[in-house]
Order: sequence, then structure tokens, then C-alpha cells
Amino acid sequence: IFNEIPSGYPIPGKTTVYDGSQTIDVDTVPLNGGFLLKTLVLSIDPYLRGRMRDPSKPSYNTAFELGKPLANYGVGLVLRSENADVKAGVHLYGIFPFEEYTIQQDANAFKVVDNKHNLPWSVYVGAAGMPGQTAYTAWKKYADAKKGETAFVTTGAGAVGSLVIQLAKRDGLKVIASAGSDEKVKFMKELGADVAFNYKTTNTLQVLEKEGPIDVYWDNVGGETLEAALEAAATNARFIECGMISGYNSQPYGVKNLMHIVAKSIKIYGFIVGKILPEFRESFYSEVPSMLAKGELKFQEDITNGLEHVGEAILAVQKGTNTGKSVIVVAEQ
Ligand code: NDP
Repeated sequence: IFNEIPSGYPIPGKTTVYDGSQTIDVDTVPLNGGFLLKTLVLSIDPYLRGRMRDPSKPSYNTAFELGKPLANYGVGLVLRSENADVKAGVHLYGIFPFEEYTIQQDANAFKVVDNKHNLPWSVYVGAAGMPGQTAYTAWKKYADAKKGETAFVTTGAGAVGSLVIQLAKRDGLKVIASAGSDEKVKFMKELGADVAFNYKTTNTLQVLEKEGPIDVYWDNVGGETLEAALEAAATNARFIECGMISGYNSQPYGVKNLMHIVAKSIKIYGFIVGKILPEFRESFYSEVPSMLAKGELKFQEDITNGLEHVGEAILAVQKGTNTGKSVIVVAEQ
């Protein structure tokens, strides 16, 4: 339950609380023409922090309502249905309230998961879900990648960044990647990054000046790293502005070096995945799940069991103590 608007990091037991007091009888609960879903997996994403805000402050997504369950991407099993468009026994992907069971009315808000590659359900909220779509769609649309160019990818061990590294390597680029621990650096090298470093112990600008200039910058962090990327950018570089997590829990940082945008003719592409997905949805689902199943694209997951641990998982993603895609497993099947 969303309990209190945080001013800094979201605190488990304060910002969010677990309420295990409500029960339903899944066999008899009235559906009123809808369908009953058993929640299997829920995604924990950085953007959830942005929804924990004062609702009077506008943003691209709606603010969570105090006293109500959180909600995010999930996969669930249809147990019963009174909706002709939804069959019992199928698995659906869409936005789920953070509840073990949910009654929904709108079949169009969900997509049937055709798991012909036998991937774990958790993958459909990660590499084969929204974060995978983020990497795939924006790389295709904005990178304008040319063999031999150099890309710099931040949060390279995370859900989005780890896929971007692999897409860039497939396109023949030299990849520089950063993350916040030595273990993550090792993983980024396994993914194929040519240069991987821990930005907490190594100076980002020095690495970029040595290994750059950079033609494509995949920005997941903003702040001082964006500043360094502007400094080390090549003429005609493309900056893909995917996220700015360094500022999600603190006051805005005034990025310097902006004149490089003019002087180096840098193209800056901000985007929200949901807006560009329709253009790529078909190719994403026909290519990516099969590549994941065959091991042609690698991914790492950070699994937490049980709704009672959601608060800790949310905080871990904001602080960077997650390793890979953060997923809550609510029920195995
Ligand atoms: P990750 O799995 O990468 O988890 C977030 C990571 O951010 C942490 O593990 C941590 O890694 C890093 N981080 C946390 N705090 C900081 C900080 N102060 N400075 C630098 N890095 C920090 O999450 P995702 O892959 O799901 O998301 C990555 C980015 O993509 C986020 O910015 C997110 O908002 C954005 N995004 C944007 C979308 C869009 O439509 N534009 C859609 C989906 C995601 P580390 O140890 O490396 O610091």
C-alpha cells in the first residue's frame, strides 16, 4: 500500500506498507462480468519512485493514490472469467495492482502471453517486457548505429542497460559501459562490453576521454555523467535520454557543458517507451523472446519472493543494490 509521499529515498514500512489482513474466497468472489487473475510476478522499476509524488505535480504517468495498492507491470493467471474475450487458464501481461488476486474488467488492458519459448514468467516483465522493449525500441529508433562507432552505456548491468550493451555489440560498435560495483563490471564484460568500469571508483570523464569520443550515449543516469558524456561526445553524436536515476531521490542537478550540444551538433532524443512501442511491438515479440530462450541475448534477474518484501526491493533499485532486473515473485504458478 502506498502510505506516505517520500521526500528522499522510499522507506520500506513508511513510504509503503504491507497489509496482509484482507482475504477473499477465489471460488465465490463475484466478478461482475470481469475476470479473476492470480498474480504471479510483478516488476519493480525505477520509475515507480516518480509515481510516489504529490498528485498535483504533473508527470507522464499518474501519481499513486495514498492508501491504495501500488501498481505496475505483471503477469498473472486467469482463474475464472465472465468476460467472453478472456479465457480461464491463460496468462496475461499488463498493469497489476500489488495484490495476490485481482478482479479486472478490461480485456484490452492486457496482452495474452504466448509462452512458446518456455521462459520463466519473470522474463515477461524484464527482458521480454517493458525494460526489454525500452532497450530494443529506442536503440532501433534513435541510435543510428554504424559499425566501428563507439557507444557509452550507463547502468550497464541493469535491466535496460544490459540489453543495450548487447544490441550495440550486435551492430558492431565499441562499447564502453559503467555500473556501480565490481561484480556488475564483471557481468558487463561477460555481455561483451569492450570497456567496463565502476563509476564509483573510476573517473568517468577520464575513461571517456581515453576510450572515446562517443558517438552514441545511452543515458540512464543524467547528472554529472551526462556532463562527462557531453564533454567526450563526437561531432554528430546521438544522445538517447532514457532515464536520469541519479536525480530521482534528490534535488535537481544543474547539468553543465550544454554548449557542446550546439558546437558538436549533438542530437538528443528523450522518449517514453509506451509511446514508441506500437511501431515495434510486432518485431519485438517475434524476435526478442526467442533470442532470450536461445541465449543469443543474455539477462540477469534479481528475484524477491513475496509481496511483503516489495518495499525493500523498491529501495534496492533506487540505491543500486539490485543486480539485474528486479522482480517480485508473488506465486510460482
Ligand atoms: P536497473 O535495473 O538498471 O536499476 C537501476 C540502477 O540504477 C541501479 O541498479 C543502479 O545501478 C543505478 N543507479 C541508482 N542510483 C544511481 C545514481 N545515483 N547514479 C547512477 N546510477 C544509479 O533499472 P532499469 O534498467 O529498469 O532502468 C534503467 C533506467 O532506464 C532508469 O533510469 C529508468 O528510469 C529508465 N527507463 C526509462 C524508460 C523510458 O521509457 N524512458 C523505460 C524503462 C526504464 P548502478 O549500480 O550501476 O549504480
